[in-house]
Formats: sequence, C-alpha cells, structure tokens
Amino acid sequence: MSFASLGLHQDIIHQVEVLGYTTPTPIQVAAIPAVLTQADIMAGAQTGTGKTAAFALPLLHKLLTNNEIKSNEVSVLVLTPTRELAQQVYNSFVKYSQNLAIRSVVVYGGASINPQLDALHKGCDILVATPGRLLELIMKQLVDLSALKTLVLDEADRMLDMGFIIDIQRILKNLPSTDNRQTLFFSATFNDEIFALSKTLLKAPKLIEV
Ligand code: AMP
Repeated sequence: MSFASLGLHQDIIHQVEVLGYTTPTPIQVAAIPAVLTQADIMAGAQTGTGKTAAFALPLLHKLLTNNEIKSNEVSVLVLTPTRELAQQVYNSFVKYSQNLAIRSVVVYGGASINPQLDALHKGCDILVATPGRLLELIMKQLVDLSALKTLVLDEADRMLDMGFIIDIQRILKNLPSTDNRQTLFFSATFNDEIFALSKTLLKAPKLIEV
C-alpha cells in the first residue's frame, strides 16, 4: 500500500515523501479514502498510530481540490482536549502543508489571546483549538465558523474526561449542522457517554478500528 494509491493530491504525496513516510499506517489506510468520500467517521485510535496524518492529509487534499481556500473563512476546525495536543496537531498540519497556500492557526487557553487573534486575522483555513479558548472567541464574536466544512474531534474520550461536554455543545450550536459538514470523531476508548456524544455529532458514520 502506498500514499499514492489512497487517492491523495500529488503535492501531498510529495510532501509525505519528503518527510520520509514510505507506507501509510493501518489507520491511514482505513481513514484516508473514507474521508475523501466525504463520509463521517468514528475511529478508534491510540496516539502513535499515525492518527493525526490520517485526518490531516485527506483534509489538506480537500482544501486543495475543492477550492476551499478563501481569505476569511475557516474550513476545518480540529478540537483537542489539551494545549499540548493542539500544538502538536497544529505542527503536523504545518509540516504536511509546507509549500501549499494553506494557513493553519492554533488557539488555546493559558496563553495570551492577542497573538492568537493576530494569527486568525491574517487568514485561517484550518483552526486547531481547545474548547474553552474557542468558546471565548465565539462568544466575543472574534471568529466566524459559519462556513465550516469539516469538524474533527481528536481524543474525544479525554475531552469528556476533562469535563468539556458543555463547552463542546455550546461550540456545536455555532457550527453548520451535521447535514452541512463532515465530522471526524477520534477516540482511544469507547463507552456509553462517547457513543451518546458521537450520535449527536455524526451522520451515518463509517466505523474504523485498527
Ligand atoms: P500520531 O499517532 O498522529 O501522534 O503520529 C505518531 C508519529 O508517527 C508522528 O511523529 C508522525 O510524524 C509519524 N507518522 C505518521 N504517519 C506515518 C507514516 N505513514 N510513516 C512514518 N511515520 C509516520
């Protein structure tokens, strides 16, 4: 199996080659074609499996091929439970989109809001955020997510463990509905609470377990 056979844009294949990735990991083999078909997905994946590239690469492909790169509209929102993970996911998007005209921005709490706002105002296609800081930006009308095409929940189980459910529900009220967006849901573990949350977020999801 190769990245080329998964249907990714040539510029993205080139970039993973530059990074030295030769073979997609199992979660990438399963998730990349599913994301490209616009399906919602619910994936069980631990850290270290290559799950970040499993959603980042096909989302970059979508941005490149669907002409979604516009000056003032956020197309992709990735929610993560911690600022460390937010920074890590942001770094991955930057790494995979080097030399592409795609702008990623990361926002999280516990850090000054102004540099984050400056970055947002310069233009943002992909926003990686922790729930509290994003909600602050939404409530102050400092970010517009009405044109969002894709929502990613990364480490959804940790988000629930950390008590972010109310924040997530409030964020969801400010996004296009499940019928008008694609949603990718990643969790290392599954329980009743996770399934209940996934039901409110996903439409006819493709289940992926590796
Ligand atoms: P993640 O599970 O997303 O935290 O990724 C774990 C690590 O694997 C990261 O350092 C990635 O850069 C690396 N990685 C992801 N996909 C591949 C791949 N197909 N081949 C080699 N390394 C990879």
